[in-house]
Amino acid sequence: MGWPVLRKDPSSFRVTPNLTDYAAAHAGSPWHEARSAMTGLPDGAGLNIAHEAVDRHATGPYADRTALRWLGKDGRSEDLTYALLRELTDRFANVLDGLGVGTGERVFLLLGRVPSLYVAALGALKHRSVVSPLFAAFGPEPIRQRLDLGTGRVLVTSRRQYERKVSALRDQLPALEHVLVVDADGEPPAGTLDLEELMAKAAASYVIAPTDPEDPALLHFTSGTTGQPKGALHVHEAVVAHSATARYALDLHPEDVFWCTADPGWVTGTSYGIVAPLTLGVTLVVDEAEYDAVRWYSILEEQRVSVWYTAPTAVRMLMKAGEQPREGRDLSALRFLASVGEPLDPAAVVWSQEAFGTPIHDNWWQTETGAIMVSNFAAIDVRPGSMGLPVPGVEVALVHRTGEGEGEDPALEILDTPEAEGELALRAGWPSMFRDYLGQPERYARCFRDGWYLTGDMARRDADGYLWFVGRTDDVIKSAGHLIGPTEVEGVLTGHEAVVEAGVIGVPDPIAGEVVKAFVSLYPGFEPTEALLRELRGFARSRLGSAVAPREIVVVAALPRTRSGKIMRRLLKARELGLPEGDLSTLEVGPDDGDPRGSAKGDS
Ligand code: AMP
Repeated sequence: MGWPVLRKDPSSFRVTPNLTDYAAAHAGSPWHEARSAMTGLPDGAGLNIAHEAVDRHATGPYADRTALRWLGKDGRSEDLTYALLRELTDRFANVLDGLGVGTGERVFLLLGRVPSLYVAALGALKHRSVVSPLFAAFGPEPIRQRLDLGTGRVLVTSRRQYERKVSALRDQLPALEHVLVVDADGEPPAGTLDLEELMAKAAASYVIAPTDPEDPALLHFTSGTTGQPKGALHVHEAVVAHSATARYALDLHPEDVFWCTADPGWVTGTSYGIVAPLTLGVTLVVDEAEYDAVRWYSILEEQRVSVWYTAPTAVRMLMKAGEQPREGRDLSALRFLASVGEPLDPAAVVWSQEAFGTPIHDNWWQTETGAIMVSNFAAIDVRPGSMGLPVPGVEVALVHRTGEGEGEDPALEILDTPEAEGELALRAGWPSMFRDYLGQPERYARCFRDGWYLTGDMARRDADGYLWFVGRTDDVIKSAGHLIGPTEVEGVLTGHEAVVEAGVIGVPDPIAGEVVKAFVSLYPGFEPTEALLRELRGFARSRLGSAVAPREIVVVAALPRTRSGKIMRRLLKARELGLPEGDLSTLEVGPDDGDPRGSAKGDS
């Protein structure tokens, strides 16, 4: 701590915040109220995310309001009104119908941030397919694995993505029946369909079939320490939390222009980069291009962005870019800033206050929670470095897991003192809680104990109830806000003929928070030459994509393992960072065996 509290002065609010009386909101029935704010499908036919996000506005006073303002990389832009978005999403739902895609079948999206991505996501939700957006910077291996785990029947993609990453995998993906190419220009690659042509032929109106709020809607893959990626499944009821948290935590009002910089390949880019703002009738700005300080400040200025949701890595890059790209800009429309995904340095909160006249409001949530769970709010003082307070309706506890030894009964100790440090747990049952890890029910069950969802994050609570992030309980890596499972990277590295075993950790990085570092041991006959290391880096990048591949690879004689054979990443990390090595009683190989024999840093 040690940073001054940033006080909020109600007389300075340009718009009355949606949440002014935190205690009263918490004590009430916020989820119940949020549910009543949804219109539901006509004739009591249930609750459908796309209806709440699009159709309800398309038939009301917001019909001609811009729902989505798309800014292309090349300077082009396109506005989709709520009425037009309705028509396009109706057409897409009809395309799926025409292909015979069934309710609950998985429609994967592998696209950059182009309008078709948004149309396909919302159209598939209308159709009651399950939408699974993939990150376009993934290499072929994470794409194959996710399509396979999710038994994707439909893939919406671009020509470039298809030809570079998917076409060679088709025979490994027997469930993948339809590949719809958004930019086929009348000449779809062999084995694919021209989406534009199908859209033009499809009927322009669609009636959403009755949708049970518990019907599956979204599938987001996330990573754990071990095993394959986990497909967190969310249902249509999640829209209640998307919308309510956008009001409370992002303070969105219908007249706002909102920019969420997250890619829909990650949960933030779907919950808040597609669904939540639209449910409130907001204008959503979508930028196709990647980060660029000058471009970003221009967007804030020219689009008159009023609410901005971004990530700590981006904030650090803007801080590094200095004042020059911001100088002389009229950023007066901007009234609320928030960030998520990794710890937000207190210095960044204070920087924002100076740069934009308002702090960045950190908030916390996960793929599994589907929506913001802990947040700093517009009307409440900000303690730089704190994630804030639980969102009204969310019950938080700090806990210790007990009884995890052999033959013991797993239990939970709830830390009930005002100040405490423990694992962050959430009382199960909020609307956007994930309902399953697809095909892995035991893994899902292990996340819950005594009615609490265990988040895997350690947090501290101060005397006033503010929560502070402490760290993860597992070995997953957070690089530039993206969660990376070490096993996924290790699995690819050991696929190289020279590599016997691999151990992957995150090491601190001043901009990305963490970057991926790999330790590998080699088969006899292979030497840790610069050429081999370069080859290994290239091998990993071509399969995993640049967002996931290791930045640095080090060759060691052997990796430290437990007696039961598990690689001790914790020990690799402690050694790397010069930290105490902790309990080594289960270590199998001698502590000296981890000495590097060669190393090389990636070039980006
Ligand atoms: P994901 O499921 O990819 O959204 O990643 C969720 C994880 O990101 C959380 O479990 C945390 O470890 C981390 N995270 C998210 N938000 C924050 C935050 N505000 N501060 C610190 N870590 C965060």
